[in-house]
Amino acid sequence: MSRPHRSEHEFLEVETFDDGQIVRITMNRPEARNAQNRGLLVELGEAFTAAEADDDVRVIILAGAGQSFSAGHDMGSEIGMRDITPGPDAHPTIGIHGGTRHGVENQALQEWHYYFSNTVAWRNLRKVTIAQVQGNVISAGLMLMWACDLIVAAEDAVFADVVSTRLGMCGVEYFAHPWEFGPRKTKELLLTGDSLDADEAHRLGMVSKVFSNERLAEDTLAFARRIARLPTITSLLVKDSVNQAVDAMGFTSALNGAFNLHQLNHAYWRELNADGYSVAKPGPATDDWRQVGPPRPARRDVP
Ligand code: ZN
Repeated sequence: MSRPHRSEHEFLEVETFDDGQIVRITMNRPEARNAQNRGLLVELGEAFTAAEADDDVRVIILAGAGQSFSAGHDMGSEIGMRDITPGPDAHPTIGIHGGTRHGVENQALQEWHYYFSNTVAWRNLRKVTIAQVQGNVISAGLMLMWACDLIVAAEDAVFADVVSTRLGMCGVEYFAHPWEFGPRKTKELLLTGDSLDADEAHRLGMVSKVFSNERLAEDTLAFARRIARLPTITSLLVKDSVNQAVDAMGFTSALNGAFNLHQLNHAYWRELNADGYSVAKPGPATDDWRQVGPPRPARRDVP
């Protein structure tokens, strides 16, 4: 029997399949390429928690509506700014979890709660999760995808973390890059801002399946159905066996350390910018290195 899920989401669509065994959570801001504003991230946490609590649910699919899975954190859309600008329309979470503190402390705490520890919690969710991605999977889009146990991509998927070459930051808050791309590939991608396509991501082992865009939703559901057949205790212990192996290699410690380096990087820009803005801004000081436009594909024969 399907149990009701919250349906009053502003930024998500939540659907259930097969008597509630499979839940598909779809980010639903296609006009903004599913840029992650505060409201969307909070709703995502609520939807994951509800699906985790539901004993009927075996597999959760995380998807994005429209042409792209996610363009990353919302860096300035009207809704994104509304959420984080103090005033009557602000998202209620800007007054908690460090939101009333100042400067570096405010940013470190808010990013901890709304970018980092939520992503870690989704990685540790008591269900098997599958990210279903297409189009642009940029910067914080990678974080949501990496938090899932498996990744399925459409043929047109493009993966890149561009915060280094656009914002002067050392990578997104959830620094899983070396574990997903490998150490050298991570350095290459973050030092150039270049992107990977779906086939290369599959070759690296990050992506399990590459489906046509037309069949992405249907084939991901078929893949999820195979996994949902396994006894739930078995699938959970498979997940935990792998995750604890990665933890024994230092995954979680490395994530924690990288988060603090990320905050050091924000503090640098906050000190440098007269207005305290915490990433590199367009202007004379960044003209010689700051890249705009879509990331270039990383090709073996192109410098
Ligand atoms: Zn940050």
